[in-house]
Amino acid sequence: MISLLGPPGSGKGTQAELIRKNLGFSKISIGDMLREVIKIKDEIGKKAKEYLEKGKLVPDYLVIEMIRKELENGKVERDIVFDGFPRNINQAISLDRFLSSRGGKVDLVLYFDTPLSLVASRLSQRRICPKCGALYNLESAQPSLQNICDDCGSTLVKREDDNEEIIKSRFQVYEEETAPVKDFYRKKDLLINIDGTNKKEEIFNEVKRYIEEGFHRENCN
Ligand code: AMP
Repeated sequence: MISLLGPPGSGKGTQAELIRKNLGFSKISIGDMLREVIKIKDEIGKKAKEYLEKGKLVPDYLVIEMIRKELENGKVERDIVFDGFPRNINQAISLDRFLSSRGGKVDLVLYFDTPLSLVASRLSQRRICPKCGALYNLESAQPSLQNICDDCGSTLVKREDDNEEIIKSRFQVYEEETAPVKDFYRKKDLLINIDGTNKKEEIFNEVKRYIEEGFHRENCN
């Protein structure tokens, strides 16, 4: 089980998708799952919307329940990549408990080290496909046809929480709640620092190397 950690816009979603496509992992993105339930407008969706609109974390019990259901759906823990989970210490502890109750564990945590000045400009240029979730950037990762998703042909949109006010709040939440998760995993010797300022292809080569080395080392032990 791999977890991707970093501030909003540090490239977690892009790398999670590359890991899924190229290395055969199952991707679990709480952000994507929440955006789906918000579309359905059921009770959970309505509740989640209030938090996403403010750039705050959705309450842990909701998120942990979503993860529990996904894992009990028969996904193989070892082959999962989490995009943006855990996002606070309580989630990290709950994940450890849940995995160990099933004989699993967190194998590797990749931290995308990216200055907030860079991620702020990336977020303002980010576009997302509302149908398949594919990610684009108007400067560095443009679609072939202007504003059209290469994968499914839908019209791209800007995420509602990629606006200046909400971004500020997401950064604050990151500094206060998510950044301490780095130390949690550093102490367990699971954290790898990756330079998130590089191009996505270069970052993926590094990510791939760490994943292959990490799992190879484990197989030899
Ligand atoms: P993301 O797509 O990862 O940028 O997440 C978008 C939003 O979904 C966040 O600002 C939070 O409101 C919510 N969210 C995503 N992951 C989590 C999580 N692990 N815990 C709580 N809320 C989350």
